[in-house]
Amino acid sequence: MTKNIQYDLIVVGSGILGTFHAIHALKLGKTVLLTEKDQYPVNATVRNFGQAVVSGMPSDWFDYARRSTELYQQIQNESDISVRNNGTVYLSSDDEETQLLHELKERMDAVDYEANLLSVDDCLAKWPSLKREYCKGGLFFPQEVSVEPERLIYRLLEYAVAKYPNLTYMPSTAVLDCSVVNDRIEITTAARQVFKAERAVICNGGEFKLLFAELFRQSGIILSKLQMMRTVPMPEVQLEGNILTGLSIRRYESFQECPSYAGISNPDRYAECKKWGIHILFKKAVDGSIIIGDSHEYADVNHTDDLGFGINSHINELMLQAAQEIVSFDVSKIASTWAGFYPQHDTKHVVEYDIDNRIHIRTAVGGKGMTSAAGYSEASIKKIYS
Ligand SMILES: Cc1cc2nc3c(=O)[nH]c(=O)nc-3n(C[C@H](O)[C@H](O)[C@H](O)COP(=O)(O)OP(=O)(O)OC[C@H]3O[C@@H](n4cnc5c(N)ncnc54)[C@H](O)[C@@H]3O)c2cc1C
Repeated sequence: MTKNIQYDLIVVGSGILGTFHAIHALKLGKTVLLTEKDQYPVNATVRNFGQAVVSGMPSDWFDYARRSTELYQQIQNESDISVRNNGTVYLSSDDEETQLLHELKERMDAVDYEANLLSVDDCLAKWPSLKREYCKGGLFFPQEVSVEPERLIYRLLEYAVAKYPNLTYMPSTAVLDCSVVNDRIEITTAARQVFKAERAVICNGGEFKLLFAELFRQSGIILSKLQMMRTVPMPEVQLEGNILTGLSIRRYESFQECPSYAGISNPDRYAECKKWGIHILFKKAVDGSIIIGDSHEYADVNHTDDLGFGINSHINELMLQAAQEIVSFDVSKIASTWAGFYPQHDTKHVVEYDIDNRIHIRTAVGGKGMTSAAGYSEASIKKIYS
């Protein structure tokens, strides 16, 4: 069945990247059809930590992340999309990590981004659940925010539908074909509906089998599987904000750009965690539960099913052991555990393909989508319409 409705833009995929592409096109006055194959988004955008850690971004991606925080806050002022401003702290556990905190502070001062070095006593006063024997110091970013991943995208979609009459949102609508026909694009859905527009943006996340499968087979994309855990609600635990620890300092791209990073050692105590790509982060959710993660296992785009769907309990045990060295509350009171998946690329911050200047693929933003998708999508839409 062909519908004669014509749109300026069709966006495929209503994760954070697709939804913000739609919002930025709507801000330009475009008519937009946003489609989502599932009843509601259930992939990376809802399975993550919800930490918007601008300070962790590589320098050539930093501005997108900084702009994203502004955009989150602007929308939050209009409608509660679950943005909270409790800051981000990186906690060091040895001299090398502490040195990296000092170096990142210098780099952040240079771009006028507030960063405060904290003593051990400062850290323990602010987060009394930390163990003194773990913490050697902290670097705190008071302006950073977090979101509740299991709420944000649904509220953002509700907000967009209410605010922009030019938006049509179609969940439970898988797109199986997207082609250029007579200088326009046509999409065909699984229900054999056809919709037309001037352009399409494809934000397919980690779904590589439905559209442009051959292109993705050659893309060099890697899928990462992460394990996450959530404790029972612990309202008494004071652990507000985005809490990142020693292994995160040794992993995040912003630290990799610091002068001493190239020479840091590889302590034996970290060996087993590093084997599974583990670094320990905490986030206290609004219900008082503490989200603890995460690990990383990888498969190339042609072998993603090899990652499996199960939870490896050895990985969870390693994470809980490492987490218990950092905090004094009992981390073993786990209420749920899950796996999340995101695509990434070894040499690109995001994967972009532009087909016939009408179909624009934007995916594989890696582990930084909740931090930077809002700002990146704004620039991407500007470029598409320039
Ligand atoms: C465990 C975990 C923790 C993370 N923690 C953080 C964090 O703290 N901070 C941070 O910045 N980032 C984090 N990330 C990364 C972040 O979640 C991702 O970068 C981001 O969600 C990617 O968004 P997306 O829109 O590209 O993909 P997705 O969320 O996967 O959305 C893509 C959507 O497209 C739909 N779709 C695909 N194909 C079709 C089709 N043919 N037709 C219709 N619909 C289609 C899918 O159903 C899906 O809903 C984390 C990720 C995980 C998994």
